[in-house]
Amino acid sequence: MDAIIIGAGIAGMYQLYRLRELGLKAQVFEAGSDVGGTWYWNRYPGARFDSESWSYGYSFSKELLADWDWPEHFAAQPDTLRYLNHVADRFDLRRDIRCNSRVVAAQFDEAPARWTVTLENGETASAPLLITALGPLSAFTLPNIPGREAFAGTACHTARWPREGIAMAGKRVGIIGTGATAIQIIQSIAPEVGQLTVFQRTANWAAPLHNRRITPEEQARIKGSYDEIFARCRETDTCFIHQADPRSVFDVSPAEREAFWEKLYREPGFGIWVGNFRDVLTNPKANALMTEWARKKVFERVRDPVTAEKLIPKNHGFGTRRLPLESGYFEVYNQANVRLVDINEEPIERITASGVRTSAGDYACDVLIYASGFDGVTGPYDRMDIRGPGGRRLRDDWQETPRTLLGVMAEGFPNMLMILGPHTARGNIPRNIEEIVDWVTGLIGHMQTHRLVRVEPRAGAVDEWTRHVEDSAAGLLFTQVNSWQTGVNRNVEGRDVRRTLGYYGGAVRYRRKGAAIAAGGYDEFAFG
Ligand code: NAP
Repeated sequence: MDAIIIGAGIAGMYQLYRLRELGLKAQVFEAGSDVGGTWYWNRYPGARFDSESWSYGYSFSKELLADWDWPEHFAAQPDTLRYLNHVADRFDLRRDIRCNSRVVAAQFDEAPARWTVTLENGETASAPLLITALGPLSAFTLPNIPGREAFAGTACHTARWPREGIAMAGKRVGIIGTGATAIQIIQSIAPEVGQLTVFQRTANWAAPLHNRRITPEEQARIKGSYDEIFARCRETDTCFIHQADPRSVFDVSPAEREAFWEKLYREPGFGIWVGNFRDVLTNPKANALMTEWARKKVFERVRDPVTAEKLIPKNHGFGTRRLPLESGYFEVYNQANVRLVDINEEPIERITASGVRTSAGDYACDVLIYASGFDGVTGPYDRMDIRGPGGRRLRDDWQETPRTLLGVMAEGFPNMLMILGPHTARGNIPRNIEEIVDWVTGLIGHMQTHRLVRVEPRAGAVDEWTRHVEDSAAGLLFTQVNSWQTGVNRNVEGRDVRRTLGYYGGAVRYRRKGAAIAAGGYDEFAFG
């Protein structure tokens, strides 16, 4: 075996495909009982992505693009999972994927340079190369609220939703969290549940998704324009089809900017977030104007002004956290069977056998949904015992903050290549993944050609990239806000300090840097 890949999601499957092209033998270990990664685990009601479907799928195969019809402009989880299964079958990937095989540890040994991984059941496997395709949002976290085990009803984290679903019709349902996941599930289940109680700690901005089915005419048009679609995604900073407007908020009159925001609000997708005026996410005054405008939208949509006020974020401006896109989310609060509990006003004291107890009283629930999020980006690495030469632990090295070269390798961990690790450009995830996998495949191809068996980034190059990552995040408003993107998760001990986990210089610069390193013969790496 030449390589071990951990994870059979979008990244792991594509890496397997690429390694086969090099004539290498790889084994994928997947914790789930099937392929799909994020889309395997997150099967809660209403789960779907906020990327245009036709910009989200793999771009590497014209045949695949031709034979797959996305049913909606923003596909739902069952369709995306069906798609990933289709990919696994179409390219005969399954014969090298072992499911139900969670990797818990990985250890590097010199002479010969080789990684040995240990599975949950104690089995081991080894190969010269270790490729981690863990997913930035795979380490889910439960709320650290006492009494969880006492609850007598059905309780579930959204990332562990059972295949058979959870019966909620007519039931009293409580949900903890109001992030992108919660927003999707709330708007989906509100019509059918008996009573829905939303426990909100931090209100989030959200804007309409405007999803709809793809007509046959559109399908034909999409299939005829994939080259242009992917070319567009390569031009933008986030790899979405949307790109920031070159104008400042202050270049136009108040009437013009409001008209622009109205237009963005009526259009599908992330335009209102990443296609907004160029300074909305960087200049506090520009952001304040946008925030005030978005605030009015909530008041237009929510009838009770007290509830509307609660739904307005007080500690962060519009778009400074990952913006959830919604379909009728705010209107849910106009329904008689839905209530919003601001847990800053009445903190949750504990979970009881019958529901949730706050300082103001008891909320009886038959079902409790934990939409409490993830230990983002580094969490999946922290949960694995990854040891380099001399027993050096990745978890210890990254305790304060990660240090990487291109987010692909960490200093002191030879032959370990990360797909979508910390410090990579992130946006439209499959686009980012394809680029990183292609780059990693290029590096492995280089080693093959030159008969090299060991690769490690040079310390100076790691310093330089890590500094560049920090510099490019400076001044962005979102770095001043707690979220999984800034590495804060109050349910995880020690994760209450903000860190820079992504590269925010944009995908174009990220790609350029990677290409320059490859063109220079990978001087930033030491080979053996
Ligand atoms: P999230 O954005 O981190 O939201 C978690 C929610 O749970 C927050 O409201 C958080 O409150 C709350 N929470 C956590 N612990 C709590 C506690 N102990 N007590 C009370 N409330 C608690 O997680 P997510 O919604 O799962 O989304 C994560 C990311 O996944 C998204 O940002 C997005 O990148 C991705 N995602 C994408 C889609 C899509 O494409 N449409 C859909 C879902 C998710 P605080 O904010 O106060 O911490």
